[in-house]
Amino acid sequence: MQTDRRRFLKDAARAAGLVFVGCSLADAVPRQRTRAARRTVVVKGRRITTVDVHAHCAVPAANDLLRRRPPAPTADQGSLLALEGQPLADRLAAMDAQGIDIAVLSINPNWYDADRDLAAKVISVQNEALAAFCAAHADRFAAFASVALQFPDLAAEQLALAMTKMGFRGAAIGGSVAGAELANPKFHPFWEKAEALGAVVFIHPQGTGSAPLADRLRGNGLLSNVIGNPLETTIALSHLIFEGTLDRFPGLKICAAHGGGYLPSYVSRSDHGCRTFPTQCTPGVPKLPPTEYVKRMYFDSLVFTPEGLRHLAAEVGADHIVIGTDYPYPWVDTPVDHVLATGALSDADREAILGGTARRLLGLKQA
Ligand SMILES: [Zn+2]
Repeated sequence: MQTDRRRFLKDAARAAGLVFVGCSLADAVPRQRTRAARRTVVVKGRRITTVDVHAHCAVPAANDLLRRRPPAPTADQGSLLALEGQPLADRLAAMDAQGIDIAVLSINPNWYDADRDLAAKVISVQNEALAAFCAAHADRFAAFASVALQFPDLAAEQLALAMTKMGFRGAAIGGSVAGAELANPKFHPFWEKAEALGAVVFIHPQGTGSAPLADRLRGNGLLSNVIGNPLETTIALSHLIFEGTLDRFPGLKICAAHGGGYLPSYVSRSDHGCRTFPTQCTPGVPKLPPTEYVKRMYFDSLVFTPEGLRHLAAEVGADHIVIGTDYPYPWVDTPVDHVLATGALSDADREAILGGTARRLLGLKQA
């Protein structure tokens, strides 16, 4: 099954003028540079500037500082855009074929175990590289800044610098930080700064979570990813709700990867927990039913089926969903058609999901 899918993706990629390569620059082979036609997306006669908020990249110099390889796809899973020396044409060809006008790049945190000096250097290198890259390609790329969230005060400073001096509109963070939940009060300085700056905080899971859970996710099927990633997002968002973090910082703009994991699919249960077992809950925390908080968050569209997208829109509002492709990981080939094919959505919903909401959130211009 997996082999068939890989073969399909390779054939599709070749047809689009792409060649799949391993994740490392050292593995890269000379590529074909034929560009497929850029797909333009039109809804009801109007050209839509589409925005993908979930697009990965890596900065090799930062990984060199950490003495590790970037968190990356394995061979056959697509080329990772590195910001130094990587052919940009391949990435643009993939975006063109998918109908993505603007990709909002982010870097999956792999520095949460670094000491303060090293973490500061890594973030500086990454954010400077991202800012320079996006400034040079502003018509096709934007980015979430990186922050050293294991040092919340430093992360707050980095976010402020990124937002006020470097042109970023937000930051990307993990679903937990070296074993600590995002709702831990030690992160309040970061959340406070993010709220004050109007930053969009993109939460992307890191999959493994706590050791006992990681143990249970071993075995065939890559459960650490297919279940572990959405589970980590579900846990992170639930703590932010139930620990009162979102009451303390009500202006936070949180955007969760992978459709918010499992939370939006079953969030009504969260409304009933404290009603059913009131002695297990702190009175007045959270202030509102949990279903109200998911309506304030944003979620990417990476839920695979029209029914999944319809349900997500029903739970969180179509105006709180944005495209997420997870590129270069080949989870989806047709992120735009996914939205267009969801019959339950109105044209206005589709415009919002395809780009309108992300452009407004991130202050991106219409093409
Ligand atoms: Zn991802």
